[in-house]
Amino acid sequence: MTERKQRCMVCAKEKTFEGSICEECKAMIRSEATEKGKKIRQEAEKEIRREGIPPKK
Ligand SMILES: [Zn+2]
Repeated sequence: MTERKQRCMVCAKEKTFEGSICEECKAMIRSEATEKGKKIRQEAEKEIRREGIPPKK
């Protein structure tokens, strides 16, 4: 085990976690990303409907 405290890139708190951000921020970002992802997908679908599906090359 190589657990040691490190500083979270998002909230700047010192905690033990994996990666560069703590679990709390990971969870927060994940939920935000899900919401954003949904919006982006909706926008993309609108675009596709308006433009027609672009042919793949
Ligand atoms: Zn954090």
